[in-house]
Amino acid sequence: MLVSAELEQQAIAWRRHLHAHPELSFEEHETTRYIEQALAEIGGLEIQRPTETGIVARLHGGRPGKTLALRADIDALPITEETGIEFASTRPGAMHACGHDGHTAMLLAAAKVLVGRRDELAGEVRFLFQPAEEVPPGGARVFVEAGVMDGVDLVVGAHLFSTVAVGKIAAPVGPLTAAADIWDAEVQGKGGHAAMPHQGVDPIVVASEVVLAFQQVVSRSVDPIKSAVVSVTRFEGGSAHNVIPEAVKLAGTVRTFDPEVRATVRAGMERVLRGVTEAHGAGYSFDYVEGYDPVINDAWAAELVRAAAVSELGEDILVEQPPIMGGEDFSAYLARAPGVFFVVGAGDQGWTPHHHPRFTIDENALRNGIAVFVRTVLDYLGTGP
Ligand SMILES: [Zn+2]
Ligand SMILES: [Zn+2]
Repeated sequence: MLVSAELEQQAIAWRRHLHAHPELSFEEHETTRYIEQALAEIGGLEIQRPTETGIVARLHGGRPGKTLALRADIDALPITEETGIEFASTRPGAMHACGHDGHTAMLLAAAKVLVGRRDELAGEVRFLFQPAEEVPPGGARVFVEAGVMDGVDLVVGAHLFSTVAVGKIAAPVGPLTAAADIWDAEVQGKGGHAAMPHQGVDPIVVASEVVLAFQQVVSRSVDPIKSAVVSVTRFEGGSAHNVIPEAVKLAGTVRTFDPEVRATVRAGMERVLRGVTEAHGAGYSFDYVEGYDPVINDAWAAELVRAAAVSELGEDILVEQPPIMGGEDFSAYLARAPGVFFVVGAGDQGWTPHHHPRFTIDENALRNGIAVFVRTVLDYLGTGP
């Protein structure tokens, strides 16, 4: 038994404290101090503060070997909690509504177990408590730039999912979360009197054609076996019944998994904007910002975690998890080392979606996540039989 009842209670207590005291992205000062204190109490760890918020702890095994990084994110969301639970957020406008409080607690607990078994390890376990997962460009990128991935051979992270039943784990091979890009565009016409459209260039009509032609970028340019979403989420222009405006502003998001598809969609959108506006004598601007890269799990790393889950929690623990169109900045670590991001089922009946004011997790999920983290480390760095 890797996770004692006592450790499970400790993990729940850590999680509840964090839940009651959430802090927003890049503002996790108290949270960082709390984690630092917990790590100091565990002892036997080399603690560093690579960035203003967030913290890294290194555990050196009994012998030299490979380096395995484990990652938790620590930030909360700008949401006012409505769960009514006894350890609900004490701060209006801030809530752990994505489960990052649970991620932090699981990683602290894994550190506690592994410190006690350091003699069985060859190499280093690096615990990454990362700030600001929720706000692009994301804390992972800042952490990577600060050098936290230097020398890392394998990186493993996890997310509690309310959409997956508690008691289940998923570690899919290949894509798990999408590239989440945002864009802004402007169609520039020539305004004037609404009764004399021939004297100007009507940007509303041109922008409408752009929006419709965008729909064909995915349906006609992308391999139908692959996935992509182009959504126009803003269409803004005009101010009166009898005035043709000068310009229309458009904005939206693009979600993809495959880098080639991502490039195809971006280029296709620009081509549409250029072509349609030119056809009607209008101008345009296009500002495309790449968000988090997709999380794509390495096959052998996913297999390592799946085997760890089965050996600790039984054959029935594994479920399949199809890719989701949400974004995750764990991808910034995967750009530096092979790795896997696994899913810890934390939902019960009547689950609520992530990022919702009534989001909750089933705390029985924590022990499963801890067990998988610890077993993965023992299997990868272990010197035992
Ligand atoms: Zn989130
Ligand atoms: Zn999250």
